[in-house]
Amino acid sequence: MKGKSASATYDTMPNNPKSKSILVVDDVPVNIQLLNTYLSSEGYNVVTASDGAEAIEQVQQHAPDLILLDVMMPKMNGFDVCKFLKSQELTRFIPVIMVTALNEVEDKVKGIDSGADDFISKPFNKLELLARVRSLLRIKYLHDELQEKVIQLQQAKEELRQLAITDGLTGLYNYRYFKEQLEQELNRARRHELNVSLTMIDIDHFKHYNDTNGHPAGDKVLKTIGALLKDNIRNIDMAIRYGGEEFALVLVETNKDAAKIVAEKIRKLVEKSAFKFEKRQPLKKITISSGVATFPGDAADFDSLVNTADQRLYLAKQAGRNTVIVHS
Ligand code: GH3
Ligand code: MG
Ligand code: MG
Repeated sequence: MKGKSASATYDTMPNNPKSKSILVVDDVPVNIQLLNTYLSSEGYNVVTASDGAEAIEQVQQHAPDLILLDVMMPKMNGFDVCKFLKSQELTRFIPVIMVTALNEVEDKVKGIDSGADDFISKPFNKLELLARVRSLLRIKYLHDELQEKVIQLQQAKEELRQLAITDGLTGLYNYRYFKEQLEQELNRARRHELNVSLTMIDIDHFKHYNDTNGHPAGDKVLKTIGALLKDNIRNIDMAIRYGGEEFALVLVETNKDAAKIVAEKIRKLVEKSAFKFEKRQPLKKITISSGVATFPGDAADFDSLVNTADQRLYLAKQAGRNTVIVHS
């Protein structure tokens, strides 16, 4: 243990006074002077303001960890400053200690109603003042820590969501996301009378490639083709690893003629791309076959759109592979 006493223990925590800033707001310079002396001697960073408007400006600029706020000030009094700060998303969790000459119950009520976290009456006792400051800084520290945890949790949740919808090998979307999104796209297309085209893609003689060159070499081909698909569609379209060596493209607001052009372009790109060991393939190169189906002309829902595209993919295989089929 480094610390000798309770307060020394707090000094070793992340809420070490040296890293904490306190805004002192008072319209009387001698009051600011006094508070500044007390707080600075404890190692706090002191920022000052002499009226309400300046206080708000300083808060926005310095994001202090605590505010000592005089009540009686010309123009904007302490209650109004406090009310304003407590109404703002970015400043509402900064603790406010009202510094008041008044000791009336009515003013304490008013202070509490305007959102103050604590009070100290003038003339104040130095030890009491510092104890109240420490106490609120501890709460602020716990709040900040909690806030940080909430942010981490949100990030972890987002990463998890990303993992859940992504295929690990290719980085493309997986079947789960595909189903979710295509169903949504079909609903949108129904409402706005739009086309959606689906292209099912399957690598030709891929079992032969794996058997001849090994699974790791096959994985590289899957990755390369995955990247090629992603790079050759619009941002609003979607490339999916549908299963083993099958891919799908969801082309939104795309009719059959346009989808055929995309599918043909991609077929040619794969045909022209150089793949390791492809000379050993039955067609002497890596190629793909595609089946295209378009909503609403070919199918009215998710299942029949997928089935229709799949049937056409099968026809493409029968036609000799390295082929795109868009009609049954
Ligand atoms: P076709 O031209 O008719 O599509 O023939 P094919 O050999 O490509 O089709 P088949 O369905 O018989 O074989 C698919 C092969 O894809 C089987 C398996 O070796 C391979 N495969 C499936 N998933 C993966 C994977 O994740 N990695 C690798 N390397 N190969 C895979
Ligand atoms: Mg297959
Ligand atoms: Mg295949």
